[in-house]
Formats: sequence, C-alpha cells, structure tokens
Amino acid sequence: MTADSTVSSSTAAPGAEYAETASAAYRAALEVIESVEPRVAAATRKELADQRDSLKLIASENYASPAVLLTMGTWFSDKYAEGTVGHRFYAACQNVDTVEALAAEHARELFGAPYAYAQPHSGIDANLVAYWAILATRVEAPGLAELGAKHVNDLSEADWEKLRAKLGNQRLLGMSLDTGGHLTHGFRPNISGKMFHQRQYGTDPATGFIDYDAVAAAAREFKPLVLVAGYSAYPRRVNFAKMREIADEVGATLMVDMAHFAGLVAGKVFTGDEDPVPHAHVTTTTTHKSLRGPRGGLVLATEEYAPAVDKGCPMVLGGPLSHVMAAKAVALAEARRPEFRSYAQAVADNAQALADGFLKRDGALVTGGTDNHLVLLDVTSFGLTGRQAESALLDAGIVTNRNAVPADPNGAWYTSGIRLGTPALTTRGFGADDFDRVAELVVDVLKNTQPQGTSKAKYTLADGTAERVHSAAAELLAANPLYPGLTL
Ligand code: PLP
Repeated sequence: MTADSTVSSSTAAPGAEYAETASAAYRAALEVIESVEPRVAAATRKELADQRDSLKLIASENYASPAVLLTMGTWFSDKYAEGTVGHRFYAACQNVDTVEALAAEHARELFGAPYAYAQPHSGIDANLVAYWAILATRVEAPGLAELGAKHVNDLSEADWEKLRAKLGNQRLLGMSLDTGGHLTHGFRPNISGKMFHQRQYGTDPATGFIDYDAVAAAAREFKPLVLVAGYSAYPRRVNFAKMREIADEVGATLMVDMAHFAGLVAGKVFTGDEDPVPHAHVTTTTTHKSLRGPRGGLVLATEEYAPAVDKGCPMVLGGPLSHVMAAKAVALAEARRPEFRSYAQAVADNAQALADGFLKRDGALVTGGTDNHLVLLDVTSFGLTGRQAESALLDAGIVTNRNAVPADPNGAWYTSGIRLGTPALTTRGFGADDFDRVAELVVDVLKNTQPQGTSKAKYTLADGTAERVHSAAAELLAANPLYPGLTL
C-alpha cells in the first residue's frame, strides 16, 4: 500500500480479521490432503506461492476471500439436489434449500432484481439457461398454446417436430468477438452460434465506441428475438437504457451478460442507464470475476422470465454444485458490505490510472482509454503481436492475456492486443500510484522485446529486462501482500 493508503485501507480485502484461524484451517486441510496424495498438497501450496509472486492483470480473475474458499470445501459437495428450492427431485435437500435460498436472496437484494437463480456452474451455463428460458417463454409457451397443449409431452410427434423447428429457427444479435463480445454471444464455434441465426454488431471503427444508431439499424433489419449486450474486452461503459429501447422497438428480449463488470454494478459504480439490471429482461453473470466470489454463474430475471429460468436444472444444467452455491451466498454477503463499494470504485479508479500510465508513455489504447475495469493495449506500436507481448511479459512475472483488437490483422490466435484488468491487484490493495508503476513496467518489457524475423510468436527480450522488472514487481507485491497473515 503506497501513496493511496486511505483508499487502500477502506478497500482492504476481507479475511485479514480471521487470518490466524484461516491459516490453522488451511494447515490442517493440507496435512490431510498430504496424507492421501502429497503431490496435490504440494501443487496447492505452490499455486498460492505463484499467485502471491506474480502481478496478476488478467481482467477476468480475482482473489476470493478465505471465507468464500473455505465454504467450497465441505460436504455440500456430496449432495444431489436437482430441481429448485423446495421442489427437488431428490430427498433430504433441506440444507441445500437453505444455502441456495440465501444466495438468491443476497443476489436479489444486491442487484435489486425481482428474481435470482444461483445454480449455473459457470458463466457459459448461465447464458445457456438464459437463452433457453427466453426460448421457452417466447417460443415454446406460445407454440404449445397455439397447438392446444399444456406440456411438450402432450404433443404428437409431428407437432413436436414443428415446435422444435421453431425453437431452432430464432435470431440473436450480439457484440462481435473482435470488438469485445464473448464467444457465447452468437459466435459460430460456440453453441450459441449454432442454436441461433446470429448477426453481430461491432463498434465505430473511428472511435472504438459502441455506435447505438448502428446497433438500432442492425436490429431493425435483422429483427432478432434476443439482443445481447455485455462484453469481455470492451473498455467502456454501456448505456443499457438505450439497448432496451432498441430491443423494445424490434420486439426483442434484452439479455445482458455482465460477467465482467458485475462487481462494478454490485459496488454501485455503474448506476442509472449503466446498471443493466433494471433495463434487461434477463441478466447473467459469473460470480468469480470482479464480483470476487467462487467460480460460478448467476441469472437475474424479471417476473416474466423467472419461471423458465427456474427450470435451468434439469433444462440445461446438471445437478447444482451446492458447495459453490453456499460460497456464492458468502461472497454475495461480502459484496453487500459498504467496503465492497469502496473496492469497486477503486477498481475503476485504478483502471483509469493504468490507462493514463500507458497514454503518457505513448501506449495506444483501444477507444483511447477506459471507464470500466480493463484496458486494451494495442501492442503493434511496439512492433509486436499480442502473443509475443503476452509471453515476454510473463517472462518478467506479469500475467496478462493477449486479446484481439477491432478488425485485428493478426486474428484471434496471435492478436494485436493485450487485455489488462484491475480487479485482482485492487483486492491486494494496489492504488493508483501502484498501477502507474505497473504501466511503466509493462512498457519497459514491451520496449525491450524484439520480434524474431517474421514469426508472430517468437521474440527476444533484451538482457537484464526480465530480472529488472521482476525485482520491481516484487517490491510492489511485497507492499501489497495477498492474503496478509495467512501462513501455511
Ligand atoms: N460471459 C462473459 C462476458 C465472459 O467474459 C465469460 C468468461 O470469460 C463468460 C461469459 C464465461 O464464463 P465461464 O468461464 O465461467 O463459463
């Protein structure tokens, strides 16, 4: 914690207050694991050491609190609980009911949503639940009514085939992968691009920002059943009120995937038109990125879509991971504390500091900056591909991921950019000055990296660079320890 000690102390990650107890719990757990498979115990210890020793700038990662992590290691893992709260296909689910209901209650309260579904195992699963809930509500239910049936099992083979054909013949409009959308938003290699006829909207080539008039024009022309908003690598805020207007005009359901920025919504950094929940019919998220919970997903919905979302299992999900739902309840309880708002604000402020740090050192940023939790640095100005930049940075202990930039000439594998996010290091206590230093170190590495010939993957790093940056990074990391007080 350097210059920003006021901000840092108010954003301190949960856990320091019970570090001694958590240390004892982990020591005991590792001893037990060691007695059965010592290599797993060793890898677990090493993973903590590696995470402690690297500058983690992966925009989709974070560090969950020991309370969240410990909650996942219990006997809830052993319980089958298909169905939903109070309505299970298995007996003896009363305690699963308790934790699932708690997770849903915290999610509803935190996000101001009429309904929350805590079962999705991941973000992709949350999106699948949402898509099928939309299809069930908008296509299957009216289709059944038209055929005079109440349930799909009541249909003749011929009528069922007609309904299946309708379900498989719907349209989805989502953000393209190269402008920051996610592969589950209608990208052909993903099931979303096979289930739906899909079209994609991009960003304004001149500014890199979403052009709402162009989205509206595409929606008018294509008339999608589902309009998807949300992103994995777009460094700007989205006006969800505008997206809803567009959806309403063409009769589409607005689905927002807030997987990346849910923490900024929970922490009230994104409010009004930038808060997706009041505008979307269905909102999906992961719980492990900026929200800082366990790996998993959530779906929030209006009353209209709630009954279909509630059937996510067994519609598209296997039995719920009850131990993870319990951890979601703990993480969401943490996110409802006032400190989480300070954390979320610091995530956004730090992204700004990181962007400014690049801009003042001649780094080229997609859209010219950021107003969320991530920046997209175009590394072609350093003569590198994203792949070379990512590898060279890793050699120096800086963990980022390569990412396409709009209309990327190097394609989705080599790419021309790297994506850097602030949620994880902000959890460690990094402040604005620390992120300026991070920008300096990243630029130091990239300036000292040379491509080898015409290879898009090979590079050489100037002698001494990795060592110099490693030791500067080590200073920053030592000043902002991960899980302070936790000793194994
Ligand atoms: N949606 C978005 C916008 C994402 O960025 C991601 C993950 O990268 C996902 C969904 C998928 O999440 P998961 O990896 O938990 O399935």
